[in-house]
Amino acid sequence: MSTIDWAARAADLRLDGRSLIDGKRVDAVDGQSFAKHSPIDNRLLGPVARGQAADIDAAVRAARAAFEDRRWAGKAPAVRKRILQRFADKILAARDELALLETLDMGKPIQYSLSVDVPSTARCIAWYAEAVDKIYDEIAPTPDSALALITREAMGVIGAIVPWNYPMIMAAWKLGPALAAGNSVVLKPSEKSPYTALRLAELAIEAGIPPGVFNVVPGFGHEAGEALALHMEVDAIGFTGSTRVGRRMLDYAGRSNLKRVYNELGGKSAFVVFDDFKDLGRAARTVAGSMFFNQGESCNAPSRVLVHDSVADEFVRLVAAEAPKYAPGDPLNPATELGALVDETQMKTVLGYIEAGHAEGGRCVAGGQRARAETGGYYVEPTVFDGIRNDMKIAREEIFGPVMSVIRFKDEAEALQLANNSAYGLQASVWSDNLNRAHRVARGLRAGTVHVNQYDEDDITVPFGGYKQSGNGRDKSLHAFDKYTELKTTWIRID
Ligand code: NAD
Repeated sequence: MSTIDWAARAADLRLDGRSLIDGKRVDAVDGQSFAKHSPIDNRLLGPVARGQAADIDAAVRAARAAFEDRRWAGKAPAVRKRILQRFADKILAARDELALLETLDMGKPIQYSLSVDVPSTARCIAWYAEAVDKIYDEIAPTPDSALALITREAMGVIGAIVPWNYPMIMAAWKLGPALAAGNSVVLKPSEKSPYTALRLAELAIEAGIPPGVFNVVPGFGHEAGEALALHMEVDAIGFTGSTRVGRRMLDYAGRSNLKRVYNELGGKSAFVVFDDFKDLGRAARTVAGSMFFNQGESCNAPSRVLVHDSVADEFVRLVAAEAPKYAPGDPLNPATELGALVDETQMKTVLGYIEAGHAEGGRCVAGGQRARAETGGYYVEPTVFDGIRNDMKIAREEIFGPVMSVIRFKDEAEALQLANNSAYGLQASVWSDNLNRAHRVARGLRAGTVHVNQYDEDDITVPFGGYKQSGNGRDKSLHAFDKYTELKTTWIRID
């Protein structure tokens, strides 16, 4: 466990909320800023530049100029690799600072900012760096009279718009493949978590990524976000966020230059426990750990727990006993497991869903209340509802907070029907000791990622994304290069 006095470090921190455009920190063009508070205790972190269309335009023009003169795209893949590896090293070297910024900004426990967010961000950048000089293009099997080359080229200017739940990791999932492929990027972080993105851009410059290649403009969605998604010089948008805003991204593209839109959206993931799974204790510990990790503010949180009737009472008892282990605490205390929700609005939304659960007849068996109100921060107890039906509001809508719904089923067919009866399709899991059933159900689940007898395994080497209204395209793995490259066919006549 970390022995650093994080509260003292936080008191000494100097935060810079200005945009980073063309290698320089700059105020918003019209001089406007907004006040950013920490959800930990509502302390003021500082003013952040309120980027608008003019700021986005400056950043996109810098990114376009960098792309056109090939200061980055024109470097040999092995050179981009070395620079990006330095960038990853700098992220690791700045681990304590970045972790503290992330925790202060959006309220997650410092132990996880240190052990998950910073290392995952660095690993993502390093992984795409290492990949980029090992990927070969193709030659088509044509007749002797011609040669057809199928090559991948950088697309141009990528707009990345990301949420606040894993600010650095979500940014890295876009930056890694986009920068490794040779693109320029304009990143618009969430207005609720701007600081680590800005610091990452400084580290990128220090590592040798040329000015203009990676720009960050903080600001609000309906201002900076909209301007970026509507910009005629942006070739693709890599968006992670809500399904509501994902719809808008498609609309912005339709209204502007038909830029590619890649949406990584919400989820309402099913965790299906059959009566033939013997170790119910492990299943209960896993679902609690995955559901309450990051305060339940995870797109892939297993928020719909489907349990066979015959083991449901026992399972609910086990899960209810797990929940108090995730009691909210001070995010700056290295022992804390569950921190603050990102802001007051999010806390009120979550408490509203808890009320809806009661109103619709759910039985709250753990949590259900606001916590630590005396701190001035925004905390909600880990909450478990039993007796939920799949058509209830809390089973259908993404809550994005520490609230789990238990839904009972009678047989395999009903379990699969309930699991797939959702607008979302991001992740799912099946728990069964019967090999045939585990494979059968895993095949039947309509989700981008399916786990069998576990939930938390994850790695940059595998694609991540959703079916249905959870989005399109995939982040992570080599497949992510598809999003930020164009495929070109070149025919050459051979006489
Ligand atoms: P959000 O959709 O409110 O905001 C995401 C980003 O879009 C922010 O930067 C925001 O400023 C911007 N934005 C908001 N309105 C906009 C507009 N009108 N035009 C342009 N940009 C706009 O989402 P959030 O609350 O920040 O994040 C939570 C959501 O993200 C959840 O739904 C969660 O499931 C999803 N998420 C998905 C994944 C995934 O990989 N599928 C990962 C993490 C989070």
